[in-house]
Amino acid sequence: MQLNDKIALVTGGGRGIGQGIALALAKAGADIVVADLDLAIARETAADVEALGRRCLALQVDISDAASVRRLIEEAEAGLGPLDIAVNNAGIIGIHSLDALTVEEWDRVMNVNARGTFLCTQAEVAVMRSRRVGRIINVASMAGKVGFPDLSHYCASKFAVIGFTNAVAKEVAAEGINVNALCPGIVDTGMWRGESGLSARWSQEGESEPAAWERLQKSLLPQGVAQTPEDMGQLVVYLAQAEHVTGQAIAVDGGFTL
Ligand code: NAD
Repeated sequence: MQLNDKIALVTGGGRGIGQGIALALAKAGADIVVADLDLAIARETAADVEALGRRCLALQVDISDAASVRRLIEEAEAGLGPLDIAVNNAGIIGIHSLDALTVEEWDRVMNVNARGTFLCTQAEVAVMRSRRVGRIINVASMAGKVGFPDLSHYCASKFAVIGFTNAVAKEVAAEGINVNALCPGIVDTGMWRGESGLSARWSQEGESEPAAWERLQKSLLPQGVAQTPEDMGQLVVYLAQAEHVTGQAIAVDGGFTL
């Protein structure tokens, strides 16, 4: 129980990678604030955390809205105590070729992924700074290191997350706050699977979505298999403890960005 009695916030913790991270932190001993746009799924994750014997608070937030983020940090600390760890995981994707990419769609993705990461990090640093301790982990992507066709605005938002993380890490390095980025590869969540996911979009003529999912894992990843939300949780548990790792963008992508 390396993180015994630490308090951790996970945005987008209602499902997918955020849920895996929340459960991994709870298994390592942390109490968890699960924040999500969808309060109902945040409550489901909170029930799973409580079943592990940890305290948990489910809160609603829209990370792209400054007032909502301020309220989240206030309610999180009032409910569970001072934040030690913050995982800015919530994010969205859109699939559009450059000629079909509208200004509205560009803003939609940038406002959640880039602006949301900025707003959360700013509010978290503000409360961690006075205590001179904190671990912030921003969830970027392998698409923050390598470009993908039809994902130009998503890639731009994730490159932004990595650049922002690097700069803020330097700004707060002497104040006891470490800021790193986690770059997942291919993780079996709604982002890849189902009718609107990437594997359906990148299926070949006559190929089913499950068949495309299998092919894409094998063709894109040197290891040949997708990662799990639990794999992401393992790195977050490590980063939540590491003393001298800051400003890094660490890939958990089965070798994709080698
Ligand atoms: P997901 O869609 O399964 O979950 C995202 C969660 O974020 C949902 O619970 C959703 O309600 C929440 N959310 C969305 N907009 C929000 C907002 N404005 N405010 C608060 N919460 C909001 O996605 P996922 O696959 O678990 O992705 C999580 C993170 O990992 C994202 O930042 C994503 O870009 C990144 N990522 C995912 C993959 C992958 O393979 N799945 C790969 C690389 C990076």
